[in-house]
Amino acid sequence: MKYINNNFFVEKVNSKKLAKKFDTPLYCYSYEKLKKNINNFILNFSKLSPLICFAIKSNSNLNIIREIKKFGLGADVVSKGELMQAIKAGISPNKIVFSGVGKTYTELKYAIDKKILLINSESKSEVKQIEKIAKSKKKIVDIGIRLNPNTDAKTLSKISTGKKGDKFGVDEKAFIELVSYTKKSKYINLRCLSVHIGSQIFKNKPYERMLKVIDRIISKVDFKFDFIDLGGGIGISYKNDNKKFNYANYQKSIIKHLGKYNSKIIFEPGRSIVANTGILISKIIYIKKNQSKNFIILDAGMNDLMRPALYGAKHRIIPINKTNKFSNTTYEFVGPICESTDKFSSIKKFQKLKEKDLLIICDVGAYGFSLSSNYNLRSKPAEILIKGSRIIVAKKRQKLSDII
Ligand SMILES: *Cc1c(COP(=O)(O)O)cnc(C)c1O
Repeated sequence: MKYINNNFFVEKVNSKKLAKKFDTPLYCYSYEKLKKNINNFILNFSKLSPLICFAIKSNSNLNIIREIKKFGLGADVVSKGELMQAIKAGISPNKIVFSGVGKTYTELKYAIDKKILLINSESKSEVKQIEKIAKSKKKIVDIGIRLNPNTDAKTLSKISTGKKGDKFGVDEKAFIELVSYTKKSKYINLRCLSVHIGSQIFKNKPYERMLKVIDRIISKVDFKFDFIDLGGGIGISYKNDNKKFNYANYQKSIIKHLGKYNSKIIFEPGRSIVANTGILISKIIYIKKNQSKNFIILDAGMNDLMRPALYGAKHRIIPINKTNKFSNTTYEFVGPICESTDKFSSIKKFQKLKEKDLLIICDVGAYGFSLSSNYNLRSKPAEILIKGSRIIVAKKRQKLSDII
């Protein structure tokens, strides 16, 4: 994705043409970037030959998952809907892990019927529920137990999941108890220790602390885990600064702490696979001056892209056509939704804009469309996948008649 003669292109397609053809707001993904991210991920962890389970919640578009599946990836799902979607995309159930604190009876039953690789359980009550279903079906069910390693991921507090006080996983004491509980169960086969400490992690430190805890606990329980599932969380830079996560250090730490256990490593990446593959194209509806501010009112709102309103996340905004005329006033980019948090960012010295101009909101491939809603009874945007010069409608724009 880059400018060619001051026009923004997604592979070989001029994004302005896409806006014209499919209208805005419009999600658009690059296949080439997706391929590059997956191949890099595989290469960066080649010494571990891990099972990579794509976190469906980050992007649940069927056509995108189908592409991801072709690289041999499995799936990490957190609901029956995501499990159905992963299977529909052709991912083999023996490459699917099921996470989440509140899996219902119906969801667990479905997962057991589909014989997925692992149900990563997050409480004693859930383990007992699985046991009950397994017993009634006279089956032995493979599970993991999610440990809360009490390590601060040092990321946005709203996306931390591995600290004491977070709702995820079980603490060390409960973990040890559950290991001995499952040893005695005829219907549960404990195969995995799983963790996921949060998202948008940039330093190796939190991972290193997490690995130390896992190492200590495994040696304490003296149990052979077939799998150690390290979750996802690897961060990407939302700025234009080429800052990258150091995969080599992380791999080294994993080998140092867990190599001796000879367990198969599982990763559950979401953001690092899809975030920078996607853009959201939006049109300026109005420009309005209010006291000292210049509001740029876009046709994309927090219902289309919720991360800024939900986590205070910042996405770069760039023009679809570059000029060299700059504005002296600060532009505040907002959506049309009736909420004050429906705001994307404030930018100084942006190029001069006028109504109907097109803009690009960057790096929206993860937790973009998948977090979108019909709030204010707005229909969801279309999703387009670009492969070279090919334009594929990955999902049609929702019609208002579908939701009214
Ligand atoms: C959200 C989530 C992931 C993916 O996290 P990323 O930061 O997108 O890599 C992986 N595992 C679990 C259990 C999750 O909840």
